[in-house]
Amino acid sequence: MGKVTFHLGGTYIGGVFMERLFKKIDELKDEIVKSTQEICRIKSVEGEAKEGKPFGEGVAEALDYALKLSERLGFKTVNLDGYVGYAEYGDGEDYVAVLGHLDVVPEGDGWMYPPYGAQIHDGKIYARGTMDDKGPIIAALYGLYAIKELGIKLDRRVRIIFGTNEETGSKDIEYYNRFEKPPVLGFTPDAEFPLIFAEKGLTVFDIVKDFSRRPENIKIEYVKGGQRVNMVPDYCEAKLEGDIEYIQSVIFKHLEETGDKVEFEVTGNEIVIKVYGVSAHGSTPELGENAVMKMMNLLGKMNFDESDVKNFIDFLNKYVGFETDGRSFGVYLEDEPSGKLSFNLGTIDLNEKGVRVGLNLRYPVTYSLEDMMNPFNERIKEYGIRVENFEHQAPLYFSKEHELIKKLMKVYEDYVGERCEPIAIGGEPTQRRCLI
Ligand SMILES: [Zn+2]
Repeated sequence: MGKVTFHLGGTYIGGVFMERLFKKIDELKDEIVKSTQEICRIKSVEGEAKEGKPFGEGVAEALDYALKLSERLGFKTVNLDGYVGYAEYGDGEDYVAVLGHLDVVPEGDGWMYPPYGAQIHDGKIYARGTMDDKGPIIAALYGLYAIKELGIKLDRRVRIIFGTNEETGSKDIEYYNRFEKPPVLGFTPDAEFPLIFAEKGLTVFDIVKDFSRRPENIKIEYVKGGQRVNMVPDYCEAKLEGDIEYIQSVIFKHLEETGDKVEFEVTGNEIVIKVYGVSAHGSTPELGENAVMKMMNLLGKMNFDESDVKNFIDFLNKYVGFETDGRSFGVYLEDEPSGKLSFNLGTIDLNEKGVRVGLNLRYPVTYSLEDMMNPFNERIKEYGIRVENFEHQAPLYFSKEHELIKKLMKVYEDYVGERCEPIAIGGEPTQRRCLI
């Protein structure tokens, strides 16, 4: 990795007084706001693929807008078959990238102002995509424009990359990497200030077990809980058949012991049990209360016959329980930059035939996938449990001492006037830590 060209430590950048750069940006303010409003008015949610528009009409329109604007500002532009585009300035073999994205997730309900109106109220633009990520990438484009207009000399080319599929699979960057060489350095103006320097390794997968031996005394028709694997489930429901008086007595005792929120309905010799928890994001499972594990805790107190079902419930209670760091499971890891491993049990679907549990584990940045999965596989092996639908995203990590991190942090501190620590996340931003 070579040296970066910006010298923002002092008052000069590329030989130009910083004040001049700030003044230029101020002059451009109205134009930046207008361009941000215009691009936010395009509903760029992924849609049906068409010729040259792999992510649909809206996304293609937003990409077209960004590239036309870039051309108008005097940049060289490239559109890679509608998958991704970029604007570029400067000369040299290597380039530095600013990577953002123009696609947005569906707007949902509950807006104070129209989600694609980009109206300004109290000095803020209201629209889907203003912060994630159209606003930031348009700001970056104008930042480069200011540099160009002031004639600041750069040692490398700078490329503003307009991604179009960040929210639904990043197929844009997959395409980009097939045709373009990677930048020598870069950053993404997305997520959180001042800077994210570490993001945990992320895995999503199911553990599955088929049942051959079922309990005779109490039948479990189903256990269902959780909607998404990257959320802490706040609801779990089970239907049992058996000695209702006994089952009820276990529930009442459990309520006394735990104070959990549990409801049940009895019909004949069947009982539907509903357990409530508190939802949280899968990257911070310690902030939630897992309804599935509360259900397992309750079911674990019932005297099921020796069976695969009973063994599986015991397995979850023994090795997962209410822990959110994988300690009892044997996969606990921790490091200084990014903290503890997070272990979220997100979904369960259990019936007479078998069980499928959705897990979302995130491991600290200085470890490898094997450091987590080897002990994991060791643990499940003897229980006849298997892993399915495995997805993995490797960690992202730069040392706080890395030149890129130090420079970007310095720019933030000098410009915003507050001293902050860069942030490590588990795939979702956590709180900022600022001194001033
Ligand atoms: Zn984003």
